[in-house]
Amino acid sequence: MVPAGQQRLRGFGVHEYIPGRHLSVLKIAVSTLTAGTLIVGCGSTAGSAIQATTSQAAAPYAAETAAPSRTIVVGRSDWEQVGTSVQGRPIRARTVGHGPRAVLFIGGIHGDETEGEFTTDQLPAAFEAAGLADRVALTILEDANPDGRAAGTRGNANGIDVNRNFPATNFDGTDPANGKTPLSQPESRAVAETIDRIEPSVVIAFHAWAGDQFINFDGPARSLAEQFSSTSGFQVKASSEFAPTPGSLGSYAGRDRGIPVLSIEVLKGADPQVTWDRLRFALLQVIVG
Ligand SMILES: [Zn+2]
Repeated sequence: MVPAGQQRLRGFGVHEYIPGRHLSVLKIAVSTLTAGTLIVGCGSTAGSAIQATTSQAAAPYAAETAAPSRTIVVGRSDWEQVGTSVQGRPIRARTVGHGPRAVLFIGGIHGDETEGEFTTDQLPAAFEAAGLADRVALTILEDANPDGRAAGTRGNANGIDVNRNFPATNFDGTDPANGKTPLSQPESRAVAETIDRIEPSVVIAFHAWAGDQFINFDGPARSLAEQFSSTSGFQVKASSEFAPTPGSLGSYAGRDRGIPVLSIEVLKGADPQVTWDRLRFALLQVIVG
């Protein structure tokens, strides 16, 4: 339901499951509204999804894309800010579903690996369409390094590799690119705090690799990685088999804390739609466990 007095959005013409469109329009709606005017319910039933009506600011976009008389459902659970980047960009997460199994999906952590963006946008609708909401609470951390993504750099605005700044036993502070101390960067803190808060059964992080694609795992995740591999065709590789990753999310959450961590390494530059089509079912399988 919409709280009394809440400003409504009218005329976006968005349905619940228009791939790629639902979320993008939601983002625009949120970005064009004054903070606090759009309160999206986080309930789990269709009846709890809010219906909204346009503000004046959003009207030009609506006029280009939809009949103004249509009423739209804009979402079941809004993004929440779980951290702030070095340059002040929000680090956002949202949870879909309400099942007993908590899963964390991270859409990107290296700023020059944007291949996960499309999949991140598609995932909520596919998750709900697959009927997983009663089995899993899926938290999607949109992008753990928004400054790096904006600049096209692997590291954050301080030049630190966020994926080397976790408090793993193998943290290496002698390399300036790792940060002097674990969790010295707001981006790694946001991820670590999210893990502490939701206590996921599995963490899935999206990456890209030049010239190869595979599923990489840390901690007790071999069976999940093999399941992902059998459905997607991606070869399984354990992190320890091919590269030292001091202070990585996999080292920290996977090897030290015993949380299964899967790192999806897609071919750098791969077509996002092709990637999504290929990985969709494998991803949903490991999410449901
Ligand atoms: Zn990466």
